[in-house]
Amino acid sequence: MSFENDLDAIVVGSGPNGLAAAVALARAGASVLVLEAAEEVGGGTRSAPLTEPGFLHDVCSAVHPMGILSPFFRQLPLAEHGLEWLRPLASVAHPLDEGDAVMLYPSLESTALGLGADARAYRRLVGPLLRDPHGLLADVLAPLRVPDHPLQLLRFGMRGAFSANRLARLVFRGTRARALFAGSAGHAILPLTTPLTAALGLLFTFTGHVEAWPVARGGSQSIARALASYLTHLGGRIETGWRVERLDALPPSRVVLFDTSPEQLSRIAGDALPPGYRRRLARYRYGPGVFKLDWALDGPIPWRDPACLEASTVHVGGTLEEICRSEREMFRGRHPERPYLIVCQQSQIDPSRAPEGRQTGYAYCHVPHGSTLDRSDAIEDQIERFAPGFRDRILARHATDPRALERYNPNYKGGAITGGVADALQLFTRPVARLDPYATPNPRLFLCSASTPPGGGVHGQCGYWAARSALRRLGLEPDAAPTPSPERPLC
Ligand SMILES: Cc1cc2nc3c(=O)[nH]c(=O)nc-3n(C[C@H](O)[C@H](O)[C@H](O)COP(=O)(O)OP(=O)(O)OC[C@H]3O[C@@H](n4cnc5c(N)ncnc54)[C@H](O)[C@@H]3O)c2cc1C
Repeated sequence: MSFENDLDAIVVGSGPNGLAAAVALARAGASVLVLEAAEEVGGGTRSAPLTEPGFLHDVCSAVHPMGILSPFFRQLPLAEHGLEWLRPLASVAHPLDEGDAVMLYPSLESTALGLGADARAYRRLVGPLLRDPHGLLADVLAPLRVPDHPLQLLRFGMRGAFSANRLARLVFRGTRARALFAGSAGHAILPLTTPLTAALGLLFTFTGHVEAWPVARGGSQSIARALASYLTHLGGRIETGWRVERLDALPPSRVVLFDTSPEQLSRIAGDALPPGYRRRLARYRYGPGVFKLDWALDGPIPWRDPACLEASTVHVGGTLEEICRSEREMFRGRHPERPYLIVCQQSQIDPSRAPEGRQTGYAYCHVPHGSTLDRSDAIEDQIERFAPGFRDRILARHATDPRALERYNPNYKGGAITGGVADALQLFTRPVARLDPYATPNPRLFLCSASTPPGGGVHGQCGYWAARSALRRLGLEPDAAPTPSPERPLC
């Protein structure tokens, strides 16, 4: 492959962050080439027929609260490039052994009403965050910096600094509200007694009142395809099937951005990075992995409470105490008998994913880093507990363990899906503590993956902020395209 002129930027990897970085660079007028190891763009946003013909599964990400609300994605005309968000009636259902499932509805009032005696406490906890949710998200989904909306961020930070367990016990008295909060905080992949896990609980909870957590029509791959299509429209180029192994094998360019793990950045860049910086990258903590099951089903999951079918995501794991125990055990290297699960029911919202009358779904549980234990039975037992007869609905299943995840995408080291542990020590200092976490000691090289702030999830914000850093180096101004109003998002 030859390139007539030197490029401004090469982006290694086409996950949502790599594509976001490339788009941000191209919008500022830079010439950009994206190199992707796989045959298809997308990284964690690809879809594939993993089970039977006619069933389309999300290989990684499925439900996208951060995608629909991403401050950067909201600036882009992704709808014109094929992205359609499909919103469920509820973001979350959280079934319990006793009584109805707890539901996170877009309406604060409807959600609060389902929490009994904790209705008022819930309104007081979440309501203030909804005064300027887009402003708050712009500050939360960013590196450490002087915030644009300091009061909102302070309000969020004062509560979010607690552990999820502590905040839930301080604020709520009942099982239902505590369980709902624990289910959202469980996305942190940390023991829920860890400081700052309340921030994840709050973030996931309040986003559910801004937008019902959506899926993308046609599979999560539609997100990557829309970004890639827009990038091409802006003049950017993409080459797939090109695994970058060495820096000196790249076409000439002024900067290179890595949508990779810190380990790969270090290996590929080699001597182009100083030994001290590489030693710090080697100390990066990736954290626990996941074990995932995808199913082709001959009907909807037979939840004991059918309201669970209204939600894109079902948090399965019972009470706050149970989820705390399960995540603590997992983080200590064990495999709890009753794991906390994140269950997604894509075809309930997007019927194009399965043949008529059939359904798709997936669930994953957190497991110790690099675990090789098959968790299929533990996962299906947990679902049976709240949906008796579930196993009878399974036509086919596809299991992915941490080793398979890492083979699929080397960014998922040991099966870790969110770019590395997001505790207080590593959330804003990923991959290492630096004033500009995206830049490296080599002025040509940048990291733009989920191993930079603000971390995991499909929002493209790591790529966007890394691109701003690279644009400064290129002497280009970031595109100052206005953010559309919340009432009229472009995507
Ligand atoms: C099972 C699972 C479920 C998830 N569920 C959700 C969810 O529901 N919602 C959500 O928001 N997030 C979810 N996530 C997390 C989300 O997918 C990631 O945080 C996100 O994809 C990270 O984006 P990224 O661009 O940083 O990296 P990635 O998406 O990992 O993309 C990196 C890309 O770089 C390529 N690459 C790597 N090395 C090289 C190389 N040497 N040369 C060329 N190319 C290379 C890879 O092939 C890949 O395409 C989930 C992840 C997993 C695994």
